[in-house]
Amino acid sequence: MKHNFGAGPCILPQTVFKQASDAVLDFNGLSLLEVSHRSPDFVEVMEEAQSLVKKALNVPAGYSVLFLQGGASLGFTITALNMMRDSKKAGYINTGTWAKGAIAEAKAVGIDVNVFASSEDQNFNYIPKNFTAPSDVDFIHYTSNNTIFGTQFKSIVEANVPLVCDMSSDIFSQKIDVSKFDIIYAGAQKNLGPAGATLYIVKDEILGKSSSEFMPKYLNLKNHADKGSMMNTPPVFSVYTSMLNLRNLIANGGIDAAAERNKAKADLLYNEIDVNPLFKSAVAGEDRSLMNVTFLLNDDAHKDAFDTMWNEAGVIGLKGHRSVGGYRASMYNALTIESVQVLTDIMKELANKM
Ligand SMILES: *Cc1c(COP(=O)(O)O)cnc(C)c1O
Repeated sequence: MKHNFGAGPCILPQTVFKQASDAVLDFNGLSLLEVSHRSPDFVEVMEEAQSLVKKALNVPAGYSVLFLQGGASLGFTITALNMMRDSKKAGYINTGTWAKGAIAEAKAVGIDVNVFASSEDQNFNYIPKNFTAPSDVDFIHYTSNNTIFGTQFKSIVEANVPLVCDMSSDIFSQKIDVSKFDIIYAGAQKNLGPAGATLYIVKDEILGKSSSEFMPKYLNLKNHADKGSMMNTPPVFSVYTSMLNLRNLIANGGIDAAAERNKAKADLLYNEIDVNPLFKSAVAGEDRSLMNVTFLLNDDAHKDAFDTMWNEAGVIGLKGHRSVGGYRASMYNALTIESVQVLTDIMKELANKM
């Protein structure tokens, strides 16, 4: 048995893997991979996936749910282009690699970027606080959870201009007040489904209002919203499997129950990191991510022993990102608390041996 702590693509429930593979072989007589995306059967899948997103996150009226391609990486460009207004200025919070990526792409499309808060001075090991968001900008962008560094915003950024958020690595892990945002976007492969689809939850009000002269058809969210996310061929496998995963999420108590499970998993692991003399957290206490837990050995002399133990126990994907080092345990929705227990047992056992 494997325990997949990988940062993405994410672990999904075994029943979702099974149902998805069944549909590859037989989706109403054809393979899911060969059916026309215009067929009523697939249109129904797209509509169900969109409505399950709305149900799971309690999305208010006046928002469209889109499944596009290009990953969150293209989302950096798409959000900047679609939110650009007359001032062509935007405020960005820099909390790490992905935020930096978003900043770079906003600049690339001609936005004057004001990085009004950053944690770069301490290698992104905390969430900036006590900042005032600028109000002379078209929009504000931040990254809710920093997949690489293991920090997470614990409340929504206060701003009196439209708010855009990259929620790639914590969407569907906890309740969010969608009404506070103009665009939420997320690559599917961190907590929703297979790579290939990128989820956008877009306030309809913002559509078609960009001031950008450069606006390729695919990058204009209005075109996708007008066509129900079917302007061109959608990523059918990813949408279908995401739909299965959302059905599973809702059948298991929805977001509230998932958030409770995620909290229990995070408490179990952070508690072990805090009490175990061999380990330390890589992140300031109050900013710790519930999804991606970054931690370090106090003494690298224990590295070989620890690595051997978790590898032998079937733990996968625990190596930290090269920019942080140490370890990163990503605990997306489908990771069970039993898997976390396997990891904390190994940490205890290692400490007992010393
Ligand atoms: C992984 C990740 C990205 C990049 O996503 P792609 O879909 O691979 O482009 C962007 N933002 C965050 C927060 C991520 O975790």
